[in-house]
Amino acid sequence: MAALLDPRSVRAAAERLGLRPAKALGQNFVVDANTVRRIVALGGVDDGDTVLEIGPGLGSLTLGLLATGASVTAVEIDRRLAGQLPATVAEHQPQAAGRLRVVASDALALTGIPGPAPTRLVANLPYNVAVPVLLHVLALSRSWRAGLVMVQLEVAERLAAAPGSRVYGAPSAKLAWYGTARRAGTVPPGVFWPVPRVDSGLVRISRGGPPASGATREQVFAVVDAAFAQRRKMLRSALSGLAGGSAAAAAAIGAAGLDPTARGEQLPIGDFAAIAERLVAAGWAGPARAGEEPAP
Ligand code: SAM
Repeated sequence: MAALLDPRSVRAAAERLGLRPAKALGQNFVVDANTVRRIVALGGVDDGDTVLEIGPGLGSLTLGLLATGASVTAVEIDRRLAGQLPATVAEHQPQAAGRLRVVASDALALTGIPGPAPTRLVANLPYNVAVPVLLHVLALSRSWRAGLVMVQLEVAERLAAAPGSRVYGAPSAKLAWYGTARRAGTVPPGVFWPVPRVDSGLVRISRGGPPASGATREQVFAVVDAAFAQRRKMLRSALSGLAGGSAAAAAAIGAAGLDPTARGEQLPIGDFAAIAERLVAAGWAGPARAGEEPAP
């Protein structure tokens, strides 16, 4: 029995489950073992790792991760797929069965990661919720320092965009709070079943420290959201609702050493953090702090 899945075994597994891939759950399964090997290699996974995988599906990538000797915690929303995964691993890599932990859950509903703290994130993310899922697991678990995710190409470009870029937006700025994102390659539609209409992109994530700020992450993200909700507006008007008027917004932006007539798309995350800090100093409460695990 081969250690990885091929197109025929993916189709056979889906048939056994009576599974019709659900578009709403972003179910496009990788059927190409070389793509799996490429993702695992770019993810830098080795046998000392505990890998967090979101959306293991029929197990294509899970098997590639386990083949390195790593342990895998796999979070899958579709209970049929979650239920089948241990049997797939037992069939293809019986020696790895004890290194797999399956969590049948919506990744967005997780309030913690069961089992040993993950050291890496490697995932072919469900495309429709890729950004919220990624931001959620970044906030939820600080133990993983590096990650490799596959997302829709357009989303990969957005995640890795720098300030000033046409595609720089709230996802790029928020991801930069946690670390850096770099494009790590393109993947053609033909390696999936069913075949999607778009190319996919690989993004490598390295954690760094968040920018120094007297504001919380939730407050900084609220400023980011307000700035990009009205992308074409100058910052002083985009932030006026939040600051209690455009004069107050301009004062906070100026006090942060920035130009109130600038637009959000020009600002790195450190500048959003500086504006949030000035707004807080001027009495803005912003959203409450969300729960997260303590720093390791
Ligand atoms: N990793 C597999 C592969 O590469 O073949 C499947 C990837 S497929 C693009 C995305 C997977 O994420 C599907 O199995 C889907 O059921 C699952 N999924 C969708 N939304 C999810 C969520 N909110 N939480 C956890 N898993 C989810």
